[in-house]
Amino acid sequence: MVNTFYHSTRSCAQTVTSKQAILQGLASDGGLYVSDELGKNKISLSDMVAGTYHENAKKVLGALLTDYTEEELSQCVENAYGKKFDTAAVTPVTELGADWLLELFHGPTCAFKDVALQMLPQLMSVAREGDGRNVMIVTATSGDTGKAALEGFANVPGCGVTVFYPDGKVSDIQYLQMVCQKGANVCVSGIRGTFDDAQTGVKRIFSDTSLKERLAKKNIVLSSANSINVGRLVPQVTYYFDAYAQLVRRGALKEGDAIDFCVPTGNFGDVLAGWFAKQLGLPVRHLIVASNTNKVLTDFIETGTYDRRRDFVKTISPSMDILVSSNLERLLYYLSDGDCDYIASLMNDLNEKGFYTVKPEILVRIQETFRAGFATDAETRATIKSTYEKDQVLIDTHTAVAKFVLDRISKDGTERVCLSTASPYKFCSDVLQALGEPTEGMNDFACMDALEAATHTVAPVQLSSLRFSEKLHTGVCDIEGMGAVVEDASLKIFARS
Ligand SMILES: *Cc1c(COP(=O)(O)O)cnc(C)c1O
Repeated sequence: MVNTFYHSTRSCAQTVTSKQAILQGLASDGGLYVSDELGKNKISLSDMVAGTYHENAKKVLGALLTDYTEEELSQCVENAYGKKFDTAAVTPVTELGADWLLELFHGPTCAFKDVALQMLPQLMSVAREGDGRNVMIVTATSGDTGKAALEGFANVPGCGVTVFYPDGKVSDIQYLQMVCQKGANVCVSGIRGTFDDAQTGVKRIFSDTSLKERLAKKNIVLSSANSINVGRLVPQVTYYFDAYAQLVRRGALKEGDAIDFCVPTGNFGDVLAGWFAKQLGLPVRHLIVASNTNKVLTDFIETGTYDRRRDFVKTISPSMDILVSSNLERLLYYLSDGDCDYIASLMNDLNEKGFYTVKPEILVRIQETFRAGFATDAETRATIKSTYEKDQVLIDTHTAVAKFVLDRISKDGTERVCLSTASPYKFCSDVLQALGEPTEGMNDFACMDALEAATHTVAPVQLSSLRFSEKLHTGVCDIEGMGAVVEDASLKIFARS
C-alpha cells in the first residue's frame, strides 16, 4: 500500500506521515491534518461483516494510518479495547423502537470519548518510539474529556498526562473520577478559577518557550489530546462500519443496503468520522447532525452561513455546548476539492468577522449527505421520558437530543441508527429529573441510587465504585502556578522511566 501523507487544511506546502501528524496534533499554520488519499481505497464490507470489533478496528486504522505496521496496530487495538471496555462487542447496537441505538459508552468513563481516547495514546506511544522523546499531554477540562484522557494515557509508555479542572465547578462524580485516577504517569490539579481560566493557562503553557526549552533538555515534549488530532478521529470511523456489520449479522440489513446515522454533535468529530466511513465505502445515505440550543450547525447546514456571533447557552447536554465546531474545517476541505487557500480564507473570516458563507456548490454537496436539527432542553427532557416509557430504553441527555431530531424526520425504508454518546448514569440528576422524579438537594450518588430504584437498571460499576475510591490528587493551584505543576510532574514522571 502507498504511504499516506497528511498536510494542513490551509496549505499543501508541508507533508507529514500519519505518525508525525498524531504527535503534532495541529498543523503549525493552525489548520487540521488531512490526507488526499481518503477514499481512494475502499474497505470491503464482507470483511467487516465477518470481523470482530478488534479486527475491524485494525482494518480501518490500517487504511488511514499507513505508516503503522500491522503488528503495531494489533498491539494498539489490543491495548485500547482488550480489557478496558465492559463488553466484548466494544460498541454494541441495540434496539430503539423502530430504529437502532449504537452504544458508545462502554469504556472506562462511560462516554463515547473513550473509544478515541483509549486509542490515541497507543498511537502516540508507538509514534514517539521513532525519536525516543517522552510526551507530556497537558489539558484543561470542564469535567469529562479530562477523565477520558487520564484513563487513556495512564501507564502508557513514554507518555505522561496532566489535567487541570476548575476547582468547585465540576460535578461530584466528575471530581471523584479525576482525583481518584490511578497510574504512575498521571497528574491532576484543580485551579482557582473557571474552565476558561484553565484553558487560558494551558494555552500560556504551550507558548512558554523557556519552559519548553527546559523540558526539551530532558527529552520531554508537550502535546495535547485535542479532538482535532487525526489519532482521535480515525478510531471513530470503526464503529460506523462495525454497527453496519452488526446489523447485517442480525439480518436487519443486506450487504449494500443504505443506512442513516443520527449523531449528537459538538465539535463535529463524531459525525465527520461517519462521513469518512462513507468515503471508505460504507453505504451511508444521510448523516443527521443533532445539536442542542447552541444550533450553529443546524443553521449552517440549512443556509450555508456559519455564524458564531450569538450567545453561548449552557444546556443539560454540556458536551455539545460549542459554538465553533473545529472538525467542520476538514469536511469543507474535502468538499471544496482540496482548496487550501479557500479554507484559509473561510477560517480567517470566522476569526475576524465571526462568520463565513460557503459557495453555493459546496452547500449543495453538504446537503446531499447531511441533514440537521436541534432540541431545546425541554424537548430533550420530554424525549428522555417518552423514550423510557414507550421504548423502555433509558438514554442520557446527549443521546436524547439526537433521538428528538431523528423522530422529527419520518422514517422510510432505510434503517436508522442513533448514536448514544453517554451512559444515562453519567448525567443522573438531569435524567432523573426528566423522568419526573424529585432531585432537589440530592448529590450525584443519591441521584444514582434513585435512578436505579426508579428504572430497575444498574449504574455502571465504573461510576458507582467511585464513592468508595481513594482520593489521590487533591492539589489545587493558581493560574500562575500551572506551568510549575506541569514542569514538576514531567520531571518526576520521566525521571522514573
Ligand atoms: C464530546 C461529546 C459529544 C460531541 O461529540 P463531537 O465529536 O464533539 O461532535 C456528544 N456527546 C457526548 C456525551 C460527548 O462527550
